[in-house]
Amino acid sequence: MRLTEKNWVAIKNNDKSFDNQFWYGVKTTKIFCRPSCPSRLPKKENVEIFASSEAAQAAGFRPCKRCRPLNRPVSNQVWIEEINHVLVEHYPENITLAELAYRVHGSESYLRHVYRELTGLTPQQKLAKIRLEKAKSYLQETDESVGVIAGRVGIPNSAYFIKCFAETYGQTPYQYRLQHA
Ligand SMILES: [Zn+2]
Repeated sequence: MRLTEKNWVAIKNNDKSFDNQFWYGVKTTKIFCRPSCPSRLPKKENVEIFASSEAAQAAGFRPCKRCRPLNRPVSNQVWIEEINHVLVEHYPENITLAELAYRVHGSESYLRHVYRELTGLTPQQKLAKIRLEKAKSYLQETDESVGVIAGRVGIPNSAYFIKCFAETYGQTPYQYRLQHA
């Protein structure tokens, strides 16, 4: 469905009277909400409108933990999948815990608590893992400098990148590249 001005105003005002009339998805996070959702307002160009919650799900969107667009609680397991989806899709960006909480529609402290309880990692540790794994494949598959790769995986400070890499894998990015060339 097309995003009309009426829809947009309803979303902006968290207007409860539009609940069950339409649902909206946020393309960058693939999460969908009721119009009344109290989550921070997404960018207008990222909003997609659905006539039913089924249509939103069919389009690959997952329910928001906060406004529960399926009329039932979102399990922590599903929420973890949403969080991981954001991390995997957006790891090159500067994703702070606050930014992540905003994108997956939860509070920072609750997010960190649930994530660690279910995965044994903090979201930041998971993000670092994704970034370093990606760096490994860049080191193996490209000729790009370590500094460029560091920036590409979202750790623009290359000295810090080298330190994290060495701490995690027991060798520097240079050694890793030599070994896997
Ligand atoms: Zn929501």
